[in-house]
Amino acid sequence: MKFDQISEPLPQRLADGLARLAAVARQLDWETAEGAGLTPTQADILRFVSNRPEGVRLTAAAAHAGVRKATASDAVAALEKKSLLRKHADASDGRAVALKATTRGNRIAQQWPSSFAPIVGGLSPDEQETLLTLVVTMIRHLQQQQLIAPQRTCVTCRHFRENAAPDTATPHFCAFVGAAMAEHHLRVDCQEHESAA
Ligand code: SF4
Repeated sequence: MKFDQISEPLPQRLADGLARLAAVARQLDWETAEGAGLTPTQADILRFVSNRPEGVRLTAAAAHAGVRKATASDAVAALEKKSLLRKHADASDGRAVALKATTRGNRIAQQWPSSFAPIVGGLSPDEQETLLTLVVTMIRHLQQQQLIAPQRTCVTCRHFRENAAPDTATPHFCAFVGAAMAEHHLRVDCQEHESAA
């Protein structure tokens, strides 16, 4: 087949396509952040902290945003100055600091549009379900290789019973909720997540 000879390898074309999608999402995110008077890193950290009302350490916020601790510290200082985030004593270690969003910070974070919404919005529900399965698989691989910070996905959760009912419409089970799950129910950032490690 002619195209087998003239095409770039499949992994490379996939990587190129994903890089294009990421660039579009990043651009949309930057435009929204600019409109809210935030840098993209500040916006990323604010949303991360807002999703964790119990409070998070600076190192976790830096790992999530993929920046150095010093850069995250600058972003946190700017967010504090804008009254979007506060430092509290960590409940589990009084000497440590936990970051928590203020009421205003939570409001901004919760109104933040998903930068990938226009990208996934063009897919059918079946295509979205297939994509979700692939995204969860990719996150799991990255996490196993320690290339990303731990994520609150079902597949890394101690409550998750993978393929507990094979060949059914709801093969998985969440012991926390006590309910069967289909592929499209898998979560990538669940507040009830507890690490299986
Ligand atoms: S608690 Fe959340 S992350 Fe854990 S299995 Fe249930 S839905 Fe998934």
